[in-house]
Amino acid sequence: MRDFLQQTLAGETPASMTGECAGLRWRWLDNGVLSVTPQEPVCGALVLSAGIHGNETAPVEMLSALLEALTQGEIPLRWRLLVVLGNPTALRGACRYVENDMNRLFSGRWRGVPDNGETQRAARLEQAVLRFFDAGQEARRWHLDMHTALRESYYPRFGVLPARKGEWDRDFLRWLGDAGLQALVFHKAPGGTFTHFSSEQAGALSCTLELGKALAFGDNDLSQFAITAEALRALLSDKPTASAPPPRRYQVAQQLTKLSNDFVLHMPAQVRNFTAFPRGALLAQDAEIRYEVQHLREYVLFPNASVATGLRAGLMLVEM
Ligand SMILES: [Zn+2]
Repeated sequence: MRDFLQQTLAGETPASMTGECAGLRWRWLDNGVLSVTPQEPVCGALVLSAGIHGNETAPVEMLSALLEALTQGEIPLRWRLLVVLGNPTALRGACRYVENDMNRLFSGRWRGVPDNGETQRAARLEQAVLRFFDAGQEARRWHLDMHTALRESYYPRFGVLPARKGEWDRDFLRWLGDAGLQALVFHKAPGGTFTHFSSEQAGALSCTLELGKALAFGDNDLSQFAITAEALRALLSDKPTASAPPPRRYQVAQQLTKLSNDFVLHMPAQVRNFTAFPRGALLAQDAEIRYEVQHLREYVLFPNASVATGLRAGLMLVEM
């Protein structure tokens, strides 16, 4: 369990598949997938994932440090925990993905593209998450999927929440704020993300956490994420977190979709996430389709013209 990250990167199967340490029972389920169960009663079931994009290493290092602290007995665990390092092949290659962006493949979208390592991995992770939640009776089910963003942002730390029927749990949203997220973005339509899958299929409270900018292993300044790491330590022990200012809230107003190779984004290459555009501004063009700002002000998130055709090349948000 202590060498979980190294074993995952090496693609090794551990000598023993289960073990105990610090009052915890761990079980190696797959490359990069580990369940950890405490002996004491738990407050819920929690999935912590990172490395769905292989170049986003800071959360992988953070998760690895948390596991280390659990095995040292520094943090008492009060959840049934599933740790997932999403895309080991891409982590090894320090690339976002090899053939398909895994965070567009969940909820069965992997069936719609030619079979490859990432479609198979997405299918296996779906099974692992469903089995994990099904194995317990916990009413409290959380999934935190940790990423870093490709570009600079007006909010270095923010969360993206999947479309959900009904209200969000207040304690969940409060924890996200306490974890240092400065903004929360609410989706209104389904997507192929890991968090949409766990929310829709397992009824989990799920959030994609974007924590700073993507850098290589060893180049990360984990002090930037200290507030998030601290909140995760408190969460694992089911202790209260130090309260932080509530995040600003945004919802998705429109999606910029790349439909053809004629797609052009009309914004500077270095534009930051959450940059505001006024009503009427031309955001992108795709042959005769023109994407313009509809509201008084819309904020751009994840602009990226170099995605495959048919995929999202950016989101436009409005403040709630
Ligand atoms: Zn990512």
